[in-house]
Amino acid sequence: MHDYLPKELKIWNYIEIILKEVLTSYCYLEIRLPILEKTEIFKRAIGNVTDVVEKEMYSFNDRKGNSLTLRPEGTVGCVRAIIQNHLLNKKNNKFWYLGPMFRYERPQKGRYRQFYQLGAEVFGFDTEDIDLEIIILTNRLWKRIGIDSDVILEINSIGSKTDRFQYKKELVFFLKKYEHLLDEDCKRRLYTNPLRILDSKNKNVQKILEEAPLLSKYINVSSSNHFQNLCNIMNSHGIKYKCNPNLVRGLDYYNNTVFEWKSNHLGSQNTICAGGRYDSLVQEMGGQKTPAIGFAIGIERLVLLTKSLNIFSKIIEKINIYIIFIGDKNKYYAVNLSEEIRDLYPKLKIFINFLNQNIKKKIKHAVNSLASIIIFIGDDEIKKGFFLVKDLKKEKEYHLLKNELMIKIQKIFK
Ligand code: ATP
Ligand code: MG
Repeated sequence: MHDYLPKELKIWNYIEIILKEVLTSYCYLEIRLPILEKTEIFKRAIGNVTDVVEKEMYSFNDRKGNSLTLRPEGTVGCVRAIIQNHLLNKKNNKFWYLGPMFRYERPQKGRYRQFYQLGAEVFGFDTEDIDLEIIILTNRLWKRIGIDSDVILEINSIGSKTDRFQYKKELVFFLKKYEHLLDEDCKRRLYTNPLRILDSKNKNVQKILEEAPLLSKYINVSSSNHFQNLCNIMNSHGIKYKCNPNLVRGLDYYNNTVFEWKSNHLGSQNTICAGGRYDSLVQEMGGQKTPAIGFAIGIERLVLLTKSLNIFSKIIEKINIYIIFIGDKNKYYAVNLSEEIRDLYPKLKIFINFLNQNIKKKIKHAVNSLASIIIFIGDDEIKKGFFLVKDLKKEKEYHLLKNELMIKIQKIFK
């Protein structure tokens, strides 16, 4: 878990504004969810033998002995909330949320124990139109951020639970012949969650998988049609994508369409957004039968990508007005003036240097902070009722009465 520092957060804020604007333009509504949920709901929905539940959850007992978990993802809590708050009958069932998730993983670049996800979930639509709209929406996000030519969309269909049950048996049968060649992780997964072996990054395992049975051969007709239709409409909308027959998700609740947006600029943690359908989760969690689809963006990875592409490198944070008072007794005169300016121009950034430094040092700091103007307040100025204003850009000085100063400020920062 790490600290998020101001320099980094400038980029975060830019990105968050874009994400919220785009989601709002597709009529998604914000929902805020608790960070803690009952452990049980994650175990049931995500699946007992998934990596997340088996070894990545931060769980603890509260004072009454109930097991709670720091949310490792957002979908489960969102589904719990929409059932509990009866939101499913409303006309607009599109939601988004942004917040920290927690997973006990091995920290590395792009993988942390606390990380932020922007999640979006849509309930009540079972046709591929909404799959398409979600893909178009994410594509628009990348365009707005300026990374669209640096990300690739991979999609697949993982069919139904029954299809996967059948396929898993065949896959295990095939892989057992090569068990001695598998790495430790894959050996363990062979008996717990064999589908996850499909997205192993181990080159030797990938080689073995070339001959493995294909999931697509086990998928029922309705799921196959759904996927085929989606591919067709994506083609007609000119959306570029790659079908990846080995794309699976780490959480059990997914079915049919799954997708990931990846980038080649991120090293091995290269997925910035992942999602898919989960048509039975709402019912499994006690709601009425409701098809659903969603995605989650890993904000840290998105920020890493924009940094490696130098996208927001030109954003500079500058102070607008720097106030220097001369003599301690004039301090509150400076405070009052800054408040009057804020009353008139609430968006300006005004900095008063309260340090006990000489004027030279303060001017240097103002210049380094890229301030546009410095206002000096000393005995003389107060007595005569004017302010000495230094325009750092034009390298000019003015003596201004207060109302003239306010007009000047308006002119400079219009
Ligand atoms: P991965 O295969 O990278 O572990 P995942 O399948 O566990 O990903 P999801 O549960 O689908 O990931 O989460 C969606 C997105 O959240 C990921 O694509 C990634 O961008 C981000 N993410 C997931 N885990 C982490 C983490 N530990 N640190 C930072 N970002 C993460
Ligand atoms: Mg993971």
